[in-house]
Amino acid sequence: MPEPRLLIEDVLRPGAEIALEEGQARHVGAVLRLDAGDAVRVFNARDGEWRARIAAKTKRGMSVRVEDKLREPRATPDLELLFAPVKRHATDLIVEKATELGARRLRPVITQRTIAETVRTERLAAIAREAAEQTERFDAPEIAEPQPLAKALDGWDAARPLIYADEAGDDAAAPWGGERGRGRPLLETLADVPQGKLALLIGPEGGFTAEERRMLRGMSYVIPVSLGPRILRAETAAIGALSVIQASWGDWRGV
Ligand code: SAM
Repeated sequence: MPEPRLLIEDVLRPGAEIALEEGQARHVGAVLRLDAGDAVRVFNARDGEWRARIAAKTKRGMSVRVEDKLREPRATPDLELLFAPVKRHATDLIVEKATELGARRLRPVITQRTIAETVRTERLAAIAREAAEQTERFDAPEIAEPQPLAKALDGWDAARPLIYADEAGDDAAAPWGGERGRGRPLLETLADVPQGKLALLIGPEGGFTAEERRMLRGMSYVIPVSLGPRILRAETAAIGALSVIQASWGDWRGV
């Protein structure tokens, strides 16, 4: 079992003694039951990953002493996920899996059919950090404050294509709008998207309204895509689409 990894934003250099944050100290001390002298790995996106040892464990807290460098940092692709918050467990799953799948920024967007009243960003940040430590990333994704969809798009950087997962077609008389007007398949679409920076938008349980579809499809940087013939739950759509993006455009290529 490799030593536990701890994301620490302090400067990591040989001999540095760093106090652990309360949550990390509780996890390392009470859950993992590590003691003074036990080895851990500490990391951040600037300094990479270092071996460290528990330097002190008291009632007041724990500290680690940094020893030697293990790995240089590796950046995650500049990939943003905009998602409509859904039920709590499913939102937690989206945050945890998007972290493992290398999203750099997670942006909850409130759409007309979003049901979730509140989004506790500090809770989502804790989930993202724990997933980042487990998944051997060098950073934890940034969790933005929830915004109404229109506000999130306001002043959008047009150099960042927004892949919009649109489950609907244009035929109001057919279920899900039928096939006419469906987005292009995601994999095909990605072949025409320049590498560099990208965003993905996933809707809520009830999907996007016709008004939101019109607004989104009217924006030059928005690329509507289909995720296939089946209607996926929001969490499935987020996980599936991020996986396809990483495999065809991101850091799964040539792994
Ligand atoms: N409107 C449907 C409903 O009422 O169940 C579907 C909403 S779906 C549960 C949640 C989100 O996942 C959608 O807004 C869309 O972003 C994405 N999604 C699910 N299936 C999709 C598909 N086949 N093609 C494109 N996007 C899909």
